Amino acid sequence: MWRYASALPLAQGEVPVSLGEGTTPMREQPELAREIGIARLWVKDEGLNPTASFKARGMSAAVTRAAALGVPGFVVPTAGNAGAALAAYGAAAGITVRVYAPRTTPAPILATISALGAELCLVDGHIGDAGKQSRAFATESGYFDVSTLREPYRIEGKKTMGIEVAEQLGWMLPTHIIYPTGGGTGLIGMWKVFAEMRDGGWLPPDVAFPRMIVAQASGCAPMVRAFEAHADRATPWENPETHASGLRVPGPLGDRLILRALYESGGDAAAVDEDVIRADTIRLSRASGIDAAPEGGCALGVLEKLVRQKRIPDDAEVVLFNTGSGASYRF
Ligand SMILES: *Cc1c(COP(=O)(O)O)cnc(C)c1O
Repeated sequence: MWRYASALPLAQGEVPVSLGEGTTPMREQPELAREIGIARLWVKDEGLNPTASFKARGMSAAVTRAAALGVPGFVVPTAGNAGAALAAYGAAAGITVRVYAPRTTPAPILATISALGAELCLVDGHIGDAGKQSRAFATESGYFDVSTLREPYRIEGKKTMGIEVAEQLGWMLPTHIIYPTGGGTGLIGMWKVFAEMRDGGWLPPDVAFPRMIVAQASGCAPMVRAFEAHADRATPWENPETHASGLRVPGPLGDRLILRALYESGGDAAAVDEDVIRADTIRLSRASGIDAAPEGGCALGVLEKLVRQKRIPDDAEVVLFNTGSGASYRF
């Protein structure tokens, strides 16, 4: 992703902390598009990043900046994949990492965090509960808190997903982007970079931006609820439950930014049940050859639902994100 260094926070002559993140494949799926009833569909496979999720992009940017500024250690609360990514980039930078994760995090992800040498603290509850412990530890230890949107650089790394979508479509943009949303940095980062690319002359001045679409699980859908209420803030979801663990974020800190991207882009938001997520994860894998994560399955379920309800038109040209790897969830 550091091919795009001019759009990223990197000082002249500085070497980024990189493990080969980004430049993930985005392949067209004509048969799936036909079955669903839209003109075109591409699936971008973020499961092929280091530690198997797009979290690598944000952590590469954040660890690069924090290492340059000289931090004594890193700490993060996580639903899983952010902890694995931070463990990897911390190891690459030679800086100690501590991760707070729910006890219910998929076992392969917890094993990856430990294998990469991070100190793993298991927490009863969800990522919000992990956040409280993580912030207390940051205050007491001086470790740098890399929580979603509490530092400014993870979002910058995630912008590169939007740049790659444009590049892989020949410097055009799709009509819709379906993004499985937890903390929302992926969606916010892409929405930020589309304007930057237009203003920087990478895209024509009259370019039409995609409608941004939030996909969530019915068991934890704070952003869908807020969007349906036309609110500008989300209220925390009670008893968040979903096996798509990256989406189990009951109170996203970036709620206002997510909603702003939805309203500004003319976007939409919807949730699907656990059985739909399971069925569409398998369907996505078998149709595409991608080892899809449940979060990708959720995005497919939401796409189908919105097409069925005519909230996405049949001439749509859609990019759908598979944000992680199925392998992280099988145990
Ligand atoms: C973190 C994560 C998400 C949610 O991403 P945000 O950008 O925080 O909304 C979705 N899928 C997977 C696999 C994740 O790890």
